[in-house]
Amino acid sequence: MSYPRQPSKYLNRDLDAFRTVVASFVDHEIRPYADEWESAGEFPRELYPKAAEAGLIGLRYDPQWGGGGGTYMATCVLCEELVKGDTVGTAVGLMAQSEFAVSVLADEASAELKAEYLAPAIRGELIGAIGVSEPGAGSDVGAITTRAVRDGGDYVISGQKTFITNGVRADFVTLAVRTGGDGPSGISVVILPTDTAGFTMGRRLDKLGSRASDTAELFFDECRIPVRNLIGEEGMGMRYVLSHFAGERLVIGAFAVGIMERLVEFGLEYGNARRAFGKPLTAFQSWRHRLADMATRLEATRLLTYQAADLLDAGDPAGEIAVSMAKVYAAESVQFVATEILQFHGGYGQMEESPIPRYYRDVAGFSIGAGTSEIQREIIARILI
Ligand SMILES: Cc1cc2nc3c(=O)[nH]c(=O)nc-3n(C[C@H](O)[C@H](O)[C@H](O)COP(=O)(O)OP(=O)(O)OC[C@H]3O[C@@H](n4cnc5c(N)ncnc54)[C@H](O)[C@@H]3O)c2cc1C
Repeated sequence: MSYPRQPSKYLNRDLDAFRTVVASFVDHEIRPYADEWESAGEFPRELYPKAAEAGLIGLRYDPQWGGGGGTYMATCVLCEELVKGDTVGTAVGLMAQSEFAVSVLADEASAELKAEYLAPAIRGELIGAIGVSEPGAGSDVGAITTRAVRDGGDYVISGQKTFITNGVRADFVTLAVRTGGDGPSGISVVILPTDTAGFTMGRRLDKLGSRASDTAELFFDECRIPVRNLIGEEGMGMRYVLSHFAGERLVIGAFAVGIMERLVEFGLEYGNARRAFGKPLTAFQSWRHRLADMATRLEATRLLTYQAADLLDAGDPAGEIAVSMAKVYAAESVQFVATEILQFHGGYGQMEESPIPRYYRDVAGFSIGAGTSEIQREIIARILI
């Protein structure tokens, strides 16, 4: 039973047509393999070029580098549908490639770096990862200690990153490093190819959810890269990282919308079929009202997310706050809906043969990744207080 999506002034025929393309890709290339990839802890590398071929990688970027020249709104539609393949980890791995790892590169890097890394990433030939978090610095990005020291025409990089999505098989890392003194103004962003001598992957990390996306610790022991691998200007890294979090946060908002649609669909299907005390579960007022609350949270999340996308597309500075509002509300709403739908399915909801417990685990990380809910509230509070 399909969810009766509310009409939205932000959607149009082109976006509807694009939604059909993504949904068909998910039906054929993702959902049939979801159980296998979730158990294996990764999806096949070949999915990147396949997704690229379908125009699903690098949607927002300049066609000069193979991008789709699309919008944040189109990114929302892409993410809503990608996540309905019953493997959130696969959607996370694809969007880490398409958005998180390359957005700074697309906006700030030299043409030379774009040709070398952005274009092949958009074709799905090179896999990218974004390396910001460290064992001692997550929310507090300004405290990172991975250091890049200038030596002639090179940087020599030593340090460690953790929780890095796509870290197991990345060909390059868009890496936040300290090129200057303490604090935010000492941070820069460089591209580090993972075949650089001194680079090693540490543990492959075992996670609660999003299990089909690979996550790793990365170590850098005097890795030497040319200074031309610097993205933009030295010392501007903190600004680049923070401003590009907007795209990551929007992705989480749109993932949440797609997951809530899928979960409410599961709920309607199960609730109409399952009978207790001589009537379908959907006939109990308690559950009718709880389903109504779920649909309302879903539509409110959609509105906040689309509004944020619209502001980001317009280049409006209000987009930063809007996307934090969307992200914090989306994370908490999808966790609410996942908990409710689990309860609605009784014992069946506890069984791994259904995708419901998987979604329940997957959404736990939505209030952590791309900036925690506490950090989003701090950003929002700054316009109030
Ligand atoms: C599945 C997954 C994938 C990830 N992928 C990547 C990736 O690809 N690249 C990457 O660089 N990072 C990645 N991360 C890391 C992620 O960005 C961090 O986990 C996140 O920013 C939080 O940092 P932390 O884990 O160090 O927690 P901490 O910053 O130590 O926070 C711990 C708790 O303290 C709270 N807290 C911290 N500061 C404040 C404050 N000022 N006010 C109130 N509360 C506060 C937090 O909200 C949280 O509840 C990933 C994380 C996960 C879970």
